[in-house]
Amino acid sequence: MNPLLACTGLSMRFGGLIALDNLDLEAREGEILGLVGPNGSGKTTLFNVLTGIYRPSAGTITFAGENIIGGTPQEIHRRGIARTFQRSRLCLDLSVFDNIMIGNHTALRLDFFYNLLHRRAFSRDYEMWRDRAAEMLQALNPSLVCRMFRPVGDLSMIDRRRVEICRALVSRPRLLLLDEPSAGMTHDETRQLMDEITASRMSGGSLTVILIEHEMEVIRRSTSRCVVLNFGRKLCEGDYAHVVADPQVQEAYLGKELE
Ligand code: ADP
Ligand code: MG
Repeated sequence: MNPLLACTGLSMRFGGLIALDNLDLEAREGEILGLVGPNGSGKTTLFNVLTGIYRPSAGTITFAGENIIGGTPQEIHRRGIARTFQRSRLCLDLSVFDNIMIGNHTALRLDFFYNLLHRRAFSRDYEMWRDRAAEMLQALNPSLVCRMFRPVGDLSMIDRRRVEICRALVSRPRLLLLDEPSAGMTHDETRQLMDEITASRMSGGSLTVILIEHEMEVIRRSTSRCVVLNFGRKLCEGDYAHVVADPQVQEAYLGKELE
């Protein structure tokens, strides 16, 4: 089976710094692929390159059989790649619903004359998006549904993370890139969140996920395969047991006990 995403020889240089170094990586349709590695190993840079924020210095990226290098972030989003950010990027004064809809801007018809002339279509669209947002919130935390029109600033950290995930999912992407969704949460909350994502993914069909995560327990529970980066290069690849047994991985996580 062809992978949904395939990168070959991918490199990203920032001046003299090589953030990604000749990386080959595949994500297979429907899998949750873990992406781990020490700080500065190029994980977020990979997401930035995949989403068109940076143009790679070398290499190829094929998504659903087509080259996506050179596409703008909007075009790549429209093709079906959505992401969350390592640092929370929510508008705290806006409602949960409005924050989610920001993730759908490429599908919305927002121009003034369209909305003036097609008010019925506009309200039909609005209801459809509202129902979709409610459905996603229901899957992650039902109590968020009745808080859908409250400001995001009123929510706890874990609920804010859930809103960010809903925002990435609202456009029904084929590939979801999660950049440390657990940042700022306790271990228990992280596990809970990943279990929720895994469960909602099960009911939602064949979403493919690449998950950047430091907590190896979360990687063990949630991913089917895992790629380890170090200095922008692939150190090791395989299932959890294979990866944690690798001496190079142990060394890269110097001092960190991996079980
Ligand atoms: P990770 O997410 O694995 O912690 P990053 O991808 O954020 O690592 O960073 C990889 C390396 O690339 C780091 O050394 C970082 O400082 C550098 N880097 C990332 N983005 C830029 C940029 N826009 N300009 C210069 N250097 C960058
Ligand atoms: Mg990062």
